[in-house]
Amino acid sequence: MLRSAVERYQYLPSVLALDTEVRGLLNAVGDPHRVAAVNARFEAIARASSVAAIYLLDRDGLTRSASNWNQALSFIGISYAYRPYFTEAVATGASRYFGVGNTTNRPGLFIGKAVPAPEGGIAGVVVVKVDLEGLQREWRQADEHVLVSDASGVVFLASEPSWKYRPLRPLAPSDTARILAARQYGDSDLRPLLAGDADGGTIKLAQGASAVSGIVERTVMPDLGWTLLYVAETDATLRYALLAALAAGISCLALALALAAAQERRQRLRSERAMRLTLERRVAERTADLSAANTRLRGEIAERERATAALRATQDELIHAGRLAALGQISMAINHEINQPLAALRTFLSSSSVFLERGDTATVRRNLKRMTEVTQRIGEIIRHLKVFARKTGPEHWEPVRLGVAAAAALDLLAARIRAESVQVSCAIPPDAMVRAEPVRLEQVILNLMVNALDAMRNTPERRLNLTAAREEASSWQLRVSDSGSGIPEEHMPHVFDPFFTTKAAGEGLGLGLSLSSLIVRDFGGSLAAGNGTHGAIFTLVLPAAEA
Ligand code: ADP
Repeated sequence: MLRSAVERYQYLPSVLALDTEVRGLLNAVGDPHRVAAVNARFEAIARASSVAAIYLLDRDGLTRSASNWNQALSFIGISYAYRPYFTEAVATGASRYFGVGNTTNRPGLFIGKAVPAPEGGIAGVVVVKVDLEGLQREWRQADEHVLVSDASGVVFLASEPSWKYRPLRPLAPSDTARILAARQYGDSDLRPLLAGDADGGTIKLAQGASAVSGIVERTVMPDLGWTLLYVAETDATLRYALLAALAAGISCLALALALAAAQERRQRLRSERAMRLTLERRVAERTADLSAANTRLRGEIAERERATAALRATQDELIHAGRLAALGQISMAINHEINQPLAALRTFLSSSSVFLERGDTATVRRNLKRMTEVTQRIGEIIRHLKVFARKTGPEHWEPVRLGVAAAAALDLLAARIRAESVQVSCAIPPDAMVRAEPVRLEQVILNLMVNALDAMRNTPERRLNLTAAREEASSWQLRVSDSGSGIPEEHMPHVFDPFFTTKAAGEGLGLGLSLSSLIVRDFGGSLAAGNGTHGAIFTLVLPAAEA
């Protein structure tokens, strides 16, 4: 701004110095017409270019013409021979000088241009005075602290009026004398302006209310010989700096947070990846372990299945052996059961031949009928024995009538029951049907009956009772009770143990009840022993067939 304000008018004195009217006036300084013409000309140009004044000095420094010719403080007739802008222009052809006008007392930039004389030398000097007050106003309004000092270090332009026309530092005596002589800065006492040191980039200007301290920025304008000082107030600067630092701090913090977040995210991803890898490795290990365990288990299951099948086969064999053993035990009775009809058959045969010789055909026919019945009975017993002796398994399970099974067992023991005069009562409802394997069920009932008969061998009254009742909707209960000796309390926990017997050697193996219990459990039922008022009671519970 300063430079453009200065240079804007640089051309004006040079142009005017070439003007023929101006030159003509200097040749005829006493010609009032010429003076008036140049005055009018200067006035018009000054107004149009808004410079403070344009005036012409003759070679002695006397003002011959001026744009303010018609004003009270006109320059006309005043000598400026002592003013540096004149002397310098005379000496060098051109000048530039800032000073306070002696006539107007208003500061300005004086730009001088020598008007050459036709015969050589200088005919005069055209001076343009530029008012820089406006510039200072602008600085003030913008709240800027600006000072411009001349080559001697005297401030001549400033945003704060009280700073003006005072040197920053104490002047050399010669400089003081020169400035005062030229009245360059009017009546200024040239008191130094600086309260503190302007070195180190800071400045302190103590001037009452307009005191300022701050950071100074110097710009040297060598062509003008001026130095421009721009002062940034420390407080404001500090405020700005603080704000800037705060903003920078916040930015840094945000950046740091972002970096930390990114770092944390990276770390989290890394640790997640590590965890995933560990997990995958563990899963792989566990999978391998599990596969191995699985294979082992499969092996064990197969082994177990083999063992179960073997056990099952062994049990089947045992049950079958038990049945054959029971058959062996009752073989005498069965023998009797078959021999008796055979003997009867023989009797019928011999008597029939006698009756036939006698011609008693009616008796023979009756005998034949009874012989047929006897053989049917023998056939029945043999078929029953065959069925009872055969091997059976779960594949033969079917709904069985409890009454039929009990009757079949009683049938095998019929001879013994008769021989031992045992009273048998069998109260089994015809609808008592259980799901079982018929031959094995018969084996169980037969065992219970044989034990009962054995227990009653030495008792005077022998009664064998079979009763059946529904235990609950899904099962039937068969009770086999006798009037025998009963089971002593101390034997109670052991009667189902294999090889537990109280019978004489050759009479019992101690397997009947343990096998029976095994069979019943296999059917999904139970077998329990107890004592009644006379003798033992065995309770057999089996799942109902319809259930
Ligand atoms: P065994 O008849 O070969 O002795 P069991 O297992 O059938 O084998 O019977 C075991 C034992 O239980 C018998 O020796 C007997 O002491 C006792 N026992 C079984 N049934 C009865 C019963 N009805 N009355 C008294 N004791 C019995």
